[in-house]
Amino acid sequence: MDEQTGYEEFIRQIVAAGVTDPLVLAAIRQVPRHLFVPEILCAKAYSDSPLPIGLGQTISQPLMVALMTQLLRLKETDRVLEIGTGSGYQAAILSLLAKEVITIERLYDLAETARVRLSQLGYPNIQVMVGDGSLGWSVSAPYDAIIVTAGAPEVPKNLLQQMAPGGKLVAPIGARTHQTLVLVEKTMTGETIWHSHGACAFVPLIGEQGWQV
Ligand code: SAM
Repeated sequence: MDEQTGYEEFIRQIVAAGVTDPLVLAAIRQVPRHLFVPEILCAKAYSDSPLPIGLGQTISQPLMVALMTQLLRLKETDRVLEIGTGSGYQAAILSLLAKEVITIERLYDLAETARVRLSQLGYPNIQVMVGDGSLGWSVSAPYDAIIVTAGAPEVPKNLLQQMAPGGKLVAPIGARTHQTLVLVEKTMTGETIWHSHGACAFVPLIGEQGWQV
């Protein structure tokens, strides 16, 4: 399979899995995933699988990135909080669909690598922070959308509090090794409505409102 055929197959799999939002598909096409993985794994960047990025962490499966992004139904005026920067790939996609992205990573070295990469590739509306994202980032709250890209035993209460009225949150919730993708919508009067969107498997969210190390 040549490079172009491989790339089109990558997009076809994402569409076949139910990602049909043209803005999300355009953002996926625009962000070069091979520049977010270690050089030695470049050839695997357009396979639909998570890949190691060092320190025991992964860049998420592209299909999961696309599905979670689609669930947020972002508007260009939205402010987004991402928990779990990792490589910065998901943040780059979000930044093309929203006004501003704040992304938090607990591991300093990953955060620094992502910060430099995102700056060099030209994503000006992303801020990378280092900290325990299970507590959210209260100084810039509330957020129109929150995305958690590590698995948590339950939705951290701080994150529910940091959602704007009318906001959305998507997170993998469940056991340490496998979870259910959960979407929470906050109404304009502050109630939350919960939906399940199938099985998934993420590395654990380590923190005060996540798992212990
Ligand atoms: N979104 C990433 C990307 O596009 O490459 C992939 C995220 S990776 C599956 C999960 C990340 O969450 C890891 O980098 C991990 O260090 C980070 N993480 C785990 N617990 C965290 C916490 N409490 N706060 C912030 N980041 C956390």
